[in-house]
Amino acid sequence: MILLNLPAFAESNIPFVTRLRTSASDKRDIADSLMIDADSMGASFAGAHGLFAIDGVSAEDLDGDVVLVTPLAGRAERLLRRASRHNTLLVTERCDQLCVMCSQPPKKTHVDRFALLEQACLLAEPDTLIGVSGGEPTLYKQKLLSMIEHVLDARPDVQFHILSNGQHFERDDVDRLRDPRYRRVSWGIPLYAADAATHDDVVGKHGAFVRLRDSFALLMAAGARVELRTVLLSTNVDKLHDLAHFVVARLRFIEAWSIMQLEHIGFAKGRWRDLFVRHDLNFTPVATALDAALLHGVRAQLFNFPLCTVPAAYRPYAIASISDWKNKTMAPCQQCSEREHCAGFFEWHPDEDAMAVVTPL
Ligand code: SF4
Repeated sequence: MILLNLPAFAESNIPFVTRLRTSASDKRDIADSLMIDADSMGASFAGAHGLFAIDGVSAEDLDGDVVLVTPLAGRAERLLRRASRHNTLLVTERCDQLCVMCSQPPKKTHVDRFALLEQACLLAEPDTLIGVSGGEPTLYKQKLLSMIEHVLDARPDVQFHILSNGQHFERDDVDRLRDPRYRRVSWGIPLYAADAATHDDVVGKHGAFVRLRDSFALLMAAGARVELRTVLLSTNVDKLHDLAHFVVARLRFIEAWSIMQLEHIGFAKGRWRDLFVRHDLNFTPVATALDAALLHGVRAQLFNFPLCTVPAAYRPYAIASISDWKNKTMAPCQQCSEREHCAGFFEWHPDEDAMAVVTPL
């Protein structure tokens, strides 16, 4: 696993964002910090905020990373790693839902980091797609949209993908989201069933389905780019067929429908045996949903499905979706010809479960 939070020590006592450079010839911005010393387990840098040191990763690995140094916490957070295609900014840990399988259980407190995160986005590598998640980012919708717009204005090469529960879009947002800049923003929004009772039960919020349905209408009116997301659960797997028909009948405007396997972390960890669906034993519900979507021209894809657990005909839809920093493969995978294209497993997926299903292709 790649560490995103590293021990750090700094002269400054206020949090700051900087881009790390190991070579003076790469220093392009006042916000860049230049390496002044290094060993195999860390490096020291000098920049506009003085001297600081980061431990736990070699200078070579840190080169080009945009970090948030929080001196009082003794921490450097790798916000945007140059070598990664999977950079996601956490804008809040608060949420107004309580999903039964939440991978990042919400907190009551919020630390406002929008100004720092905006600085980080402005230092992103060219042509970067930046993920935004929470908690629920749109709880702070005005600040979120302002940050996004400032970055889109300053960096015409940058795009955003924002995960949201879709509970906070209003009619007043439609004109704002119609702005051409938002063609570079896509929204990842979860829907777990075509019936209110099942969806509300999964997200732990009465009325969430109805509110979400209204939001989809607003997003459609705004011409927003939406990726629909459905996590496979024991409580919705039998309703996937109905959901597929709802998607093709009512949500044809979406860019893609991602059907996702469960992550063994957060709330799902303690409920694993109750919630996890063995799609390798019965792929029919997933296949039926994929067939319905594809038949009607809705792009469908599978996230977090190891290729060898998917019937051959459906493997083209299984994306290598797990971010590099939290991905693992098992020992037998070394012999697999599809390793490059496979999602593999989350770092925290139980080894015995993974070993029970891996079959090198
Ligand atoms: S053997 Fe490993 S790499 Fe190959 S398809 Fe299965 S999980 Fe993926």
